[in-house]
Amino acid sequence: MRILLSNDDGINAKGIWALHDALADHAEILVVAPEREQSASSHALTMHHPLRLRQLDERVFAVDGTPSDCVLMAVRGLGGKIDFVPDFVLSGINHGANLGDDVTYSGTVAAAFEGHLLGFPSVAFSLASGTGDFGLAAAAARELVLQLAARERVPTLLLNVNFPDSPEYRGLRVTSLGHRRYEDVIDERTDPRGKTYYWIGGSPSWDDDPRSDMAALKDGFVSMTPLHLALTDVPMVETIGTWGLSLQPNGSKAAE
Ligand code: MN
Repeated sequence: MRILLSNDDGINAKGIWALHDALADHAEILVVAPEREQSASSHALTMHHPLRLRQLDERVFAVDGTPSDCVLMAVRGLGGKIDFVPDFVLSGINHGANLGDDVTYSGTVAAAFEGHLLGFPSVAFSLASGTGDFGLAAAAARELVLQLAARERVPTLLLNVNFPDSPEYRGLRVTSLGHRRYEDVIDERTDPRGKTYYWIGGSPSWDDDPRSDMAALKDGFVSMTPLHLALTDVPMVETIGTWGLSLQPNGSKAAE
């Protein structure tokens, strides 16, 4: 089995090496991860400055870009340095949960999105808080990957997995993304030179949905949410079609 491993916490993060070490006996692993932490970088690709590649070991590389840059560069051969067709693209283990609506901000999940877009089964792993046991989470991740690998390959498979902090988790629950109630607080402050600056903060609260990923973690389960990138609001295509909106070529007035 060949595994491409990336993350958004950076090449030196504890979580990626815990996952690497847990899988090392079971797979050929290529690590391509950001030089620096890229949490909440979402699905950004670097287009406006050059990307530097630093080789740390035969199959370990750091890119001074985003998680998506890392996965794309790895799959495209790292400038001819490597020819690696992964069976799975794995991302994480992230230091902190990636749940519900917040997955759209997540660099961890974005690396899995990128693997998915490139045609590989992809899984994002996150540990609820940075204080949980990465070794235990990585062992659980290994069990899941081995079980998935034993099944028929589903190229479109895209999974978001979150581990609770407690090693005494009760099992695995397949979930849906929950919805966050946005109560972001924009904290306005003044710097020593009298200029205003802002911190985005506030603590999230979540809709009560027993099928959600958040509820699974709260109940002590490992949460696994299958995702896809089909963002089209299909019923709304029908609805908007009945609204009579129109544009004429070249902005000319509609013929009466
Ligand atoms: Mn992160």
